[in-house]
Formats: sequence, C-alpha cells, structure tokens
Amino acid sequence: MKRLTAIFIAHALLLAQAASAAFADDTPAKQLFGAKALPAKMNAQPVGFYSKGCLAGGVAIPVDGPAWQVMRLSRNRRWGHPDLVRVIEDLSQKARRDGWNGLMVGDMSQPRGGPMLTGHASHQIGLDADIWFMPMPDHRLTYQERENLSAVSVLKSGSPYVDDGRWTPAHAKLLHEAASYPQVERILVHPGVKKKLCDTVRGDRAWLAKIRPYYGHHYHFHLRIKCPDGAANCRPQSPVPAGDGCDRKTLDWWFEVALAPKKPAKPSTKPEKPKKPRYIRLSDLPSTCASILDAPDVPAAAAEYAIRASAFTAPALDIPKFDPLAILASKPIEARKPAAATGLVPAGDIPVPTPRPSN
Ligand SMILES: [Zn+2]
Repeated sequence: MKRLTAIFIAHALLLAQAASAAFADDTPAKQLFGAKALPAKMNAQPVGFYSKGCLAGGVAIPVDGPAWQVMRLSRNRRWGHPDLVRVIEDLSQKARRDGWNGLMVGDMSQPRGGPMLTGHASHQIGLDADIWFMPMPDHRLTYQERENLSAVSVLKSGSPYVDDGRWTPAHAKLLHEAASYPQVERILVHPGVKKKLCDTVRGDRAWLAKIRPYYGHHYHFHLRIKCPDGAANCRPQSPVPAGDGCDRKTLDWWFEVALAPKKPAKPSTKPEKPKKPRYIRLSDLPSTCASILDAPDVPAAAAEYAIRASAFTAPALDIPKFDPLAILASKPIEARKPAAATGLVPAGDIPVPTPRPSN
C-alpha cells in the first residue's frame, strides 16, 4: 500500500508538471495527453499515425445515443474525429435494424488523442473505437453500471477459439456491416474470431479482408477508419492485403506461433542488462502535437457531437469530474478478471514477435 501511495504521489507530481507545461523533455507523452480533460480548440484534424500522433478539435460521442451507450466514462476516452462518431452513429442504427439492440462503445481517444495513460498502443488520432461484442442492454445503464459491468469474451475459457454458445450470426452480421463502410480501414479482432468468420461466412467474402487478427479483441472489436479526406497531417496505414485473410500464412501463424503455449525459457548464463523503460515522448510525436497540447480548451458542451436524430433526448448522466489518477488506479481492460494463460492478453501488454503477418 505504501508503495502504491508513493507511485500515486510520483504520478501526481508528473501530472502537475505536465499541467504547468514546465515538463522535462523526457516526460512520457501519455502523462501530458492523459492529463487533458478537454479537446484543443482547433479544426478537427488527426495528426500522425494511429499509434504515434494526436488529435486537434476532437468531439465527444454523447454518452447515450438512439442506439448506443458509452462505457467506462471515468476514463474520458469518448473522443474522436467527427467522421468516426458519424460512422458509429450510423452503424448503431444499422445494427439495431439487424436485431442487435445497439452498440456498447468502449474506448475511443483522449480529448487531444496522444498516447494513453493505460492500455492501447493505438487510439491516438481519433480514428479508432472499441465496440463491445455485446448488444446494448434494454435499460439505460447508470454511471456505476457503465464503470463496473464486465464485458464477456466470445472465446471458450482458456482457449483461443470461439465459444459457439456465445457467438451468434448477429455478431458476424455486425462485423460485416462495420466492414462495409468505405471509411472503415480495418477491424481488429482476436484470431479466434477471424477463424470463426473464415470457417462460416458464405457468399460474399470480400469484406473479410478488412477483418484483421490481433491479440486481445475478444471482448470487443476495434474499428479503425481511414484518414479523412483532406487530413494532410494524418499518415495512412498500408492497405489491407488482398484476399480474405483466411490463408494459412495469415491466420495459422497466430495459432501455431503467437498463441501456442510457450516453452519455459532456458535460464541464460549471461547477466541480463537492465532494460530502460520505453515510452513515447512529446518529441517523438509530430511537432504539431506540441501546439495541440498547448491550445486552449473547447468548453465541454461545445465539444459534444450533435446527434443527427434530433428527436432523441436522454436525461443527463451525472459524471464525476475527470481524474487522471483514477485511471492509473483502474484496470486497463474491460474485463476485471485475470487473462487466461493462452495468449488471451490485451494488446500492448505483450511484445509482438517478429516476423509476423501484417495485421
Ligand atoms: Zn482498440
């Protein structure tokens, strides 16, 4: 407990430094961006790459929409480029028409994007969103329920394969709908989910190209949109490879190498060098990110995305004031259970071996 307190004090000091902008050059960028409660008052613009960049003029997706609810509000990660919010808004309506009650929206970006205090290598430029593999419940969740409700994995317990008791045609349909947007660049899912689609999707399979296998992503899928038109400072990702991605080279590697049970490592005879902690600093990001960090705030009310279905209203939800220290104290993944032993760890917690097929 003492150690935890010491860590908190250290973080508090760093965050205070960040707030005063009198930070040392090597301050982790996640502490600078993670301390911001509101977006930069600038035109909406993603800057840099999904895993190394920031966001100007972010908008907040409303905590309730006609067919969505946003989860884990204390994290203050419901920010994104307006194009991303528009896709989520539209997809939520389509999903409901397909019989999926509505979307449970997980992490998007911080108000000014950038590296996050916990979890996620990407989600830095307002073009990524996590959507739970669970339809929205029938009732409107309270603030506490949005904090505490556990997401349910679609995998069999302790296995890298989908649990047929949990996976439904509606899951596949939702991914199909999501992948059908021309704006959607790719969708990250657990390799077990990709395999399930490869094994079961009949007819049009072209959309499977956008469904890319990756670690984690069995509680949620990760929706990524392309750099919006005219976003000159946004660096696009290389296009998804041709084909449905169900070939041996692309998919089997995950089961045979990445998710295979690890042999215990032989004890090394060489003395181990102490590893330097590696993190992204502000100077590692595009230079525009420094001015985005320093720009004045947009008032919260002005930064909220205007829902198109104008008849929709929801009573205001009482959200406590944003506290970055609470994020450091909370678990970074949706489920509050320890990850199972078979490679089912959230992305970002484990090194990605090389070589590996592109995702
Ligand atoms: Zn994600």
